[in-house]
Amino acid sequence: MELIQLHKGPRTLLHACCGPCTLEPSRLLSEDGHQLTVYYANSNIHPDGEYAKRLDTLKTWAVTQDLPVQEGEYEPSNWEHTIASALRAPDCADDVPHEARCRACYRLRFEQSAAYAAAQGFDCLSTTLSVSPYQYTDIIRQELERAAKKWGLQAEFRDFRPNYAEATRRSRELGMYRQNYCGCRFSDGEAAAEREERRRLRQEEQQRRALQKAAWELEHADELEKQRSEQAQRKREKQAYAEKQERKRAILRSLRNADEKHAELPTASASPGTSCADDNH
Ligand code: SF4
Repeated sequence: MELIQLHKGPRTLLHACCGPCTLEPSRLLSEDGHQLTVYYANSNIHPDGEYAKRLDTLKTWAVTQDLPVQEGEYEPSNWEHTIASALRAPDCADDVPHEARCRACYRLRFEQSAAYAAAQGFDCLSTTLSVSPYQYTDIIRQELERAAKKWGLQAEFRDFRPNYAEATRRSRELGMYRQNYCGCRFSDGEAAAEREERRRLRQEEQQRRALQKAAWELEHADELEKQRSEQAQRKREKQAYAEKQERKRAILRSLRNADEKHAELPTASASPGTSCADDNH
């Protein structure tokens, strides 16, 4: 799907977390006239191999769309330091630790993006993070607006979550690399623990259903035995009937063959002097 630029609009720096999440926001913003440059600023991503893999996926796709991609500084130690201080900061006291961590993470990435956007003369700042239903959409909005305001930009916040399914479908169709955790080392462990928990729950559910089935079968054992013996009896009768029919068909075939052979025998010619006419004398 080619990005469609309908009319010249604001120059917008689109902060992007990965290729799959960029598909739908870039399409929708381009259709609304935004002149996009994608900005990959994600010091949260751990390990660095994962960071490179996501960037490579994004760039490979962006080339096919003539969509420029800029890479921000990758500073994992700065991210670690920012998160550690944010969790101790008084303005994060109302957030539960997980939310406080993500808020600080968004803030760092949007600040970096906004500073770049302002320096390069962009009009707007937007982000692909709001595609994911697993993110804190309200906090993303707050932090995007905060960073944009600080750097004199317009915040182009969109709730892209309704397009998440389409983004998933398109990224699968394009064979894009799709990560299974948000990005930081915490989320890697959390996502693995959630997968493990889902697997455990599935197993428990299967065991519960198997036990339920066994208990029901025990309770209805006589009834089931009767059903099974009736089924077996019906099967035997069906088999006996089929064999009887086959025997009948075999007899009929033999009779037909005998008739055909008899009809093929030559007819004996009558002897002179034995005609009916002779008997009259
Ligand atoms: S879970 Fe995602 S948004 Fe939250 S801190 Fe980790 S990388 Fe950042």
